[in-house]
Amino acid sequence: MRVLMIAPPGAGKGTQGARIAAHFGVPHLATGDLLRRHVARGTSLGRTVQDYLDRGSLVPDRVMQDLVRRALADATAAGGGYVLDGYPRTPAQAWAAYQIATSLGATAEVALHLRVDDDEVVRRLLSRAGIEHRSDDTEPVIRRRLALYHEVTEPILDWYDRRGILLSVDGMPSPDQVTADVIAALGTRRGQCVSRPGPVPELLAAA
Ligand code: ADP
Repeated sequence: MRVLMIAPPGAGKGTQGARIAAHFGVPHLATGDLLRRHVARGTSLGRTVQDYLDRGSLVPDRVMQDLVRRALADATAAGGGYVLDGYPRTPAQAWAAYQIATSLGATAEVALHLRVDDDEVVRRLLSRAGIEHRSDDTEPVIRRRLALYHEVTEPILDWYDRRGILLSVDGMPSPDQVTADVIAALGTRRGQCVSRPGPVPELLAAA
């Protein structure tokens, strides 16, 4: 199973992504986790991206492209499936993801969108802030991440919808309920998915 996850911050991408990946026996590639691991290890990439993470800004496309290309190449070598969580987040990234995946013969079968409303997202992230101490879980940075989501990420959903691979699931219920709903919905998609090449999205031309 090859899945892209697209959802606002706090929607449960991390939790659901890990569970879905385990269910299908494929790697969970979470770009935020990969970046935070570089920061924690103090690599040169980590030093480059730390400020972006702290401010809730998007890491530059070129950095993300290299990171995702490597992660997808490893996943492809290991068997082909993946749950890519946190990428793409912009029209340009959507196109880059498509090109990278095409070159590896592993385009996504499903773009999984978790729908959670803004108030709930802010509530979840603020309650997580007390537990995980992520540098970007403060209210102003949460608002910025959310604004970026609405501005540059949400528009790509339409492209996946037109390609016929969008699966939109309500992310408001309990984590276990969402997992069950997602797995049931993915099960019905299995074998039916066609990785139809999409046209270059008009939104990209405007980006
Ligand atoms: P969330 O979805 O809750 O904001 P993530 O862990 O997915 O959390 O991402 C955390 C941060 O990592 C983002 O705010 C951004 O700085 C960086 N990041 C992750 N994925 C991308 C991406 N595709 N493009 C640019 N920056 C990214």
